[in-house]
Amino acid sequence: MPRPKKCRRIGFIPKYREYGPRDRNHTSEETILLQLDEIEAIRLKDIEKLDQSEGAKLMGVSRQTFQNIIESAREKIARSLLEGVEIRIEGGHVINKHCIAVCEDCGKSYNMEDGEWTGACASCGSTHLYCSKKDRRCCL
Ligand SMILES: [Zn+2]
Repeated sequence: MPRPKKCRRIGFIPKYREYGPRDRNHTSEETILLQLDEIEAIRLKDIEKLDQSEGAKLMGVSRQTFQNIIESAREKIARSLLEGVEIRIEGGHVINKHCIAVCEDCGKSYNMEDGEWTGACASCGSTHLYCSKKDRRCCL
């Protein structure tokens, strides 16, 4: 049985979500979905210049997983630029650093801005975490 996918912490929500060629005669039959955890890994590695282990710790994934996320993201971005395919940023099993995460299974809550993040509930191991802030503005 595959292990449940851990919830990845992201520190940034992109303001603009859709990208593509601006050439007037451009028509796109395909849209690549770039997930929020993928663009976050790119941000940490290529913009913030963190090394693999720092980035992995912030997101709550292993170093290998962090590397895999980056490779997947770079391939999508490269395909977009080389083939003129549109990109839309959306999805991914993520929780924002501004969220207050609550474990669906045991009710423990976490301030996502503090310290290391393992991607799962520290008391019961559940990966069913959701943001409990009332207005959910942090998640938009
Ligand atoms: Zn729990």
